[in-house]
Amino acid sequence: MKKIAILGSTGSIGTQTLELVRENPDLSVVGLAAGSNIDLFEQQVREFQPKLVSLQSEEACKELKTRLADMDVTVVCGMDGLIAIAEMEEAQVLVTAIVGMIGIRPTIAAIQKGKDIALANKETLVTAGHIIMPLAKERGVSILPVDSEHSAIFQSLQGENRERVRKLLITASGGPFRGKAREALENVRLEDALHHPNWSMGNKITIDSATLVNKGLEVMEAKWLFGVGLEQIQVVVHPQSIIHSMVEYVDGGIMAQLGMPDMKLPIQYALFYPDRRPMKGKRVDFYALGSITFEKPDMETFTGLKLAMRAAREGGSVPTVFNAANEMAVRLFLNKKIRFLQIPEIIEMCMDAQKRIASPSVEEILACEQETYELIRTKF
Ligand code: NAD
Ligand code: MG
Repeated sequence: MKKIAILGSTGSIGTQTLELVRENPDLSVVGLAAGSNIDLFEQQVREFQPKLVSLQSEEACKELKTRLADMDVTVVCGMDGLIAIAEMEEAQVLVTAIVGMIGIRPTIAAIQKGKDIALANKETLVTAGHIIMPLAKERGVSILPVDSEHSAIFQSLQGENRERVRKLLITASGGPFRGKAREALENVRLEDALHHPNWSMGNKITIDSATLVNKGLEVMEAKWLFGVGLEQIQVVVHPQSIIHSMVEYVDGGIMAQLGMPDMKLPIQYALFYPDRRPMKGKRVDFYALGSITFEKPDMETFTGLKLAMRAAREGGSVPTVFNAANEMAVRLFLNKKIRFLQIPEIIEMCMDAQKRIASPSVEEILACEQETYELIRTKF
């Protein structure tokens, strides 16, 4: 029996992880945390019977306690709750399916307790990769990628000599606005930005995919996960999302992982690695597919990717500023407070204004996040 805890169980990755628990009787859930969807969360607790559960606000936790009075379960709350679940004695693997850099402290807490991490929460690695990766190594903990591109790279590295990697090729669908000129993006509606051509995901990452910020975050995520230089990472637009990413070796050979765009495969791979389990679902039908295509990313229109590359190059606290500014800007866009093109504008404004720290501690990263939010609040 493999015992897992999940941070962000009511979200897109969280609910798909629980589907896998339903399908695999040798997986069991010992801890669950989520934000505010109390109805779905209560159903999950009743079905999966974890020992420890947490919601974001005190109010939601109080309500949950009342609702679960008939059950043998402990309710914890907020950041302390996330950390308590991350550190649970009973859990072997922590699935980080929470969104945003709020995942930093719980992820570090879990690693310190020797838990393997099935990592979906890329913002954590983008901002604190320089702390998390060495700590994981020191504690002998595996960071197993859930993000489809990173899972594809991880799968393409199996059985190979990592010294012989020449570059990582990260594929990108290009999002709903691929091929559009900048002027055409002036007045895009929230509804259009939320309509991803191939993947069904949470709102924040769907907007990140439309701005190409997601691909930028993934470049930084790959740099930390696989310990390669930025110059060894190339983004390739591949609109059909069938090749999930590739690794080129020194002899020119390229290994790729292909499959339908379905997050359940990378989640399951992370949970059972190095095994592969049978899985239901649609398969790639090459006759029906006919052709797949590739393009260069348009970084002049989608400046989110260009700014991410700059943040990655500058390093230190700059990726934190980039990420925090994006988190806040996406929130403002989702609340219809700003236009689509203001997302990269806000990121750039913050990157130009914020002071730099070469190798920020967790406290400095969190302070930098708050300062970035403050800066945006003074203007919007
Ligand atoms: P989502 O918005 O669907 O779900 C987020 C989950 O986190 C929800 O359960 C929510 O309640 C919870 N949460 C949010 N704030 C919280 C807080 N303060 N305290 C406790 N819980 C909180 O997001 P998602 O699409 O599932 O994405 C999760 C992470 O996985 C993100 O980092 C995203 O970039 C990454 N990811 C997602 C996909 C995908 O297909 N959805 C693919 C690759 C990577
Ligand atoms: Mg991805």
